[in-house]
Amino acid sequence: MSARPGTIYLVGAGPGDPGLITVRGLEILKTAAAVVYDRLVAPELLNHVRPDAVREFVGKAPGQAARTQTEISALLVRLAREGRAVCRLKGGDPFVFGRGGEEALAAADAGVPCEVVPGVTSAIAAPASAGIPVTHRGVAAAVTIVTGHEDPAKAEPQVDWAACARLPGTLVIMMGVGTLAATAAALVAGGRDLNEPVAVIERGTMPAQRWVRGTLASIVEAVRREGIGNPAVVVVGPVVGVLSPMPSPLGQPS
Ligand code: SAH
Repeated sequence: MSARPGTIYLVGAGPGDPGLITVRGLEILKTAAAVVYDRLVAPELLNHVRPDAVREFVGKAPGQAARTQTEISALLVRLAREGRAVCRLKGGDPFVFGRGGEEALAAADAGVPCEVVPGVTSAIAAPASAGIPVTHRGVAAAVTIVTGHEDPAKAEPQVDWAACARLPGTLVIMMGVGTLAATAAALVAGGRDLNEPVAVIERGTMPAQRWVRGTLASIVEAVRREGIGNPAVVVVGPVVGVLSPMPSPLGQPS
């Protein structure tokens, strides 16, 4: 079904490989009269946008201030009120650290219809693309997705790392490369074993995908040595070693 005029669609673009958008998401993208997109969206997907559609990039461009969330929400509402079908295309899933909830609230406040089209989240797809199942029978019966995008030494941290350390199962940390040293230390202080396996997957599902493996004791040095950077997810737990190591572009996993 084509995108309806006057509606905001929060569409998950998937983790990076353009083949990993949903059928429904692609349908909305192809028929929308306005597309508002982020930095993490696969550029190939934009080839599907109607030539007459309004295109707005709202990610952070080098040397330019990123638009605030309030500005982005206002833009979506304005485009919809002007009678356009608006595709808000976001990396991964719109509701997993994607601020999709805030945009859905802005639409509701403005009385604009809003539909969510879920996406394949990098929290699960990036580990999968390195051969890591986030749950595995007999190994991990739970998976917890947390943000690492904060300083664990802050007065009132959002993430209780001591509680995360005690949780059984797999931890997936998003936006966590910059703070990895502090996070690893906090997890060990909270009781996780220094030998707990850890993997960091950069650009999962994309052609330039790379990843490193190590332990809570060794991963910070491995990441530094290989120059792993954003976007990347950190996976902590025994699932990291459950399948025989997949070939990594970095050679033998450490
Ligand atoms: N809504 C997105 C997450 C947005 S937050 C989703 O569901 O995937 C941005 C963070 O997502 C990045 O800092 C990184 O931790 C992660 N990320 C996004 N795409 C990624 C990819 N292809 N490989 C690894 N991590 C990725």
